[in-house]
Amino acid sequence: MLKKIVKWTVLVIATIVLTLTSFTSTILAASKTPSWGHWDDTTITYKTASTSSYYKSVWKNAVKRWNKVGVVQLRAAKSGEKADITLTSSKSLSTKSGKLAGYTNYSYLKKSDNENEIVSAKSTLNRSLLSKYKYSKNQRTNVATHEIGHAIGLSHSKSEDSVMYASDRYASIDHQDKVGLQSAYED
Ligand SMILES: [Zn+2]
Repeated sequence: MLKKIVKWTVLVIATIVLTLTSFTSTILAASKTPSWGHWDDTTITYKTASTSSYYKSVWKNAVKRWNKVGVVQLRAAKSGEKADITLTSSKSLSTKSGKLAGYTNYSYLKKSDNENEIVSAKSTLNRSLLSKYKYSKNQRTNVATHEIGHAIGLSHSKSEDSVMYASDRYASIDHQDKVGLQSAYED
């Protein structure tokens, strides 16, 4: 009888442990920003094509934020050197999906079914929309950070705390963005 109770207890505990384990892995899986590609090197060059000093500083602050994460290093291209990423702003920006605060175009090489190597990217901020909806400078920097996130390989996140949340001006780089970027560049 005692043996039976012990056996039963072990079984119950094992079930609880299993349940907890799958619960934890669900949380972990959800807390990683998805990625769509990566550059071949973690040092990536950029140039700021905006002529406005205001937008130059918005881009510069966004670059600083990604460099602080420590996964990739964005380095200003020397004059005459072709930059990997171009950062710019436009008076207005209309795409198929409507009016956007920012937009990133990119080209990539398909290395395999689940590996894309980014070869060029261009991120643009929509000045008229950002002014119309009264984005603060910090909010514009959040949008710039989001666009650079696409340019270095991240996709949209469902989490409102992620800088890669599709329609948000309030979030900056979160831990899940760092983890997502790390996994895009590992090995
Ligand atoms: Zn986006």
